Amino acid sequence: MMPHQPFEEWLLAVHDLSAAEAAKLESHLRECSSCRALATGWAEAERRLEAAPLLAPTEGFAERWQATLVAREIAQRRWQAWLVFGLSLAGALALAVLLGWQVLSSLLSPAHAAVGLLQVMVWVAAAVAAAQEVGLVLVRSLAALVPPGLWIALVVGAAALISLWLITMSRYAIQGVRQ
Ligand SMILES: [Zn+2]
Repeated sequence: MMPHQPFEEWLLAVHDLSAAEAAKLESHLRECSSCRALATGWAEAERRLEAAPLLAPTEGFAERWQATLVAREIAQRRWQAWLVFGLSLAGALALAVLLGWQVLSSLLSPAHAAVGLLQVMVWVAAAVAAAQEVGLVLVRSLAALVPPGLWIALVVGAAALISLWLITMSRYAIQGVRQ
């Protein structure tokens, strides 16, 4: 059995060998296949360690982390879109139910005539409100131009016209209900 020491130790040593040690190691490696195998194996291992890209796992990790962030953002946006869609749908459904209920109750209720009258009254009220608004604008623009006496006459005339119109409308509404 060939003595492998100190050659094995020299092969794995981190310090540089002296010229005499190197010569002894070289002659031993020529005779000993075991130490030759260790020498080539160790050299290959060192080459691979030096060539190994140490940053590669970090880069892969960074890419995966970035992908996770993007995926999270997409998921969040998708969730927000669904939330907006759901709220809009709920609002539309509530409106549809309300309108449907109104239509059904006006069709099915025995007092649907009263509902019709109520609708006419609401319409008249809206028309009166609009007329008031138009009247206010007219008063503002004419107040400076028209003398006080004529102004009072105009207001009385307008009130008379509006009263006449309201009476006509209420008669029409009552006729509509009686039909
Ligand atoms: Zn040996």
